[in-house]
Amino acid sequence: MRAMVLDKPKHPLELCDVPKPKPGRGQLLVRVSTCAVCRTDLHVIDGELPNPKVPLILGHQIVGRVEEIGEEIQEIPKRPDTKPSPTFAIGDRVGIPWLGWTDGDCAYCRSGRENLCDNARFTGYTIDGGYAQFTVADARYCFHLPDRYDDVEVAPLLCAGLIGYRSYRKTGGAQRLGMYGFGNAAHLIAQIAIYEGREVFAFTRPGDKATQQAAKELCAVWAGGSDEAPPNKLDAAIIFASVGPLVPVALRALAKGGVVVCGGIHMSDIPSFPYVDLWEERLITSVANLTRRDGDEFFEIAPRVPVRTYTETFSLEEANTALDRFRAGKLNATAVLRVSE
Ligand SMILES: [Zn+2]
Ligand SMILES: [Zn+2]
Repeated sequence: MRAMVLDKPKHPLELCDVPKPKPGRGQLLVRVSTCAVCRTDLHVIDGELPNPKVPLILGHQIVGRVEEIGEEIQEIPKRPDTKPSPTFAIGDRVGIPWLGWTDGDCAYCRSGRENLCDNARFTGYTIDGGYAQFTVADARYCFHLPDRYDDVEVAPLLCAGLIGYRSYRKTGGAQRLGMYGFGNAAHLIAQIAIYEGREVFAFTRPGDKATQQAAKELCAVWAGGSDEAPPNKLDAAIIFASVGPLVPVALRALAKGGVVVCGGIHMSDIPSFPYVDLWEERLITSVANLTRRDGDEFFEIAPRVPVRTYTETFSLEEANTALDRFRAGKLNATAVLRVSE
């Protein structure tokens, strides 16, 4: 099968002919239809995330059809409230996210925090992902996808949507919600926030009037540069940009008891700041990965809003072009690789 392979970090992907994977116990063999490109893919290629599997097939926002099913796993639920895993039949559409496998057994898994599992494996990072014609995935971590979306539209929801949603839920009942870095994830999550009656304050790169205008069109109550103070103190802020200096900036924009949620997997260093900015029970937290429950909740609410995605499509062979344009900030929408039609 054709795949775009990362031989080692800091090198472009190479188009290779690699053996088609075989589904093991509990796994699905999936014919990949589309795979959206995520900023995390850039972090892996640029060597900013430690110990990727190499050689590696990137991609963790995968949409495809079940081609073959490995031997099924008899699941014994560990807790009475454990929801049964989704079941798939040959030909079913399937979404494969970042969280690819957990041990189900560590202290984190046993306390409903499988996103922090000590032994977790991640699609397109520590296991092969979707920049290929076929991939295998553990059926227990896959999702059925809402019918209202086609294969291109739904792909960006699998990470930008899902992990963005986890960041959003960390803001609790915040009424005034700031978003720093108004890119793909912010764009998706702002739609849910507005649907739920929150006021969205959009912060862009200073002077980026086009993005500020786009945020206003989406019904943000205010949009401005990250160097500007919002007209009202915020109850929460999510930082989607991988820019550490935004943390103290966002902190200063918070009302008492407010929270700053860092939504990315990687961020440049955070400069020091005076304690008074944290005082009065302000919080800084990060979001790591996702749980299957986040996915179930998100795919329930997304079609009700309905969350709209904006995409720009590339062929599998054009993956490097898509990645380069993403890195250079030259994409106007989420890049989605169309792998098979
Ligand atoms: Zn675990
Ligand atoms: Zn991602």
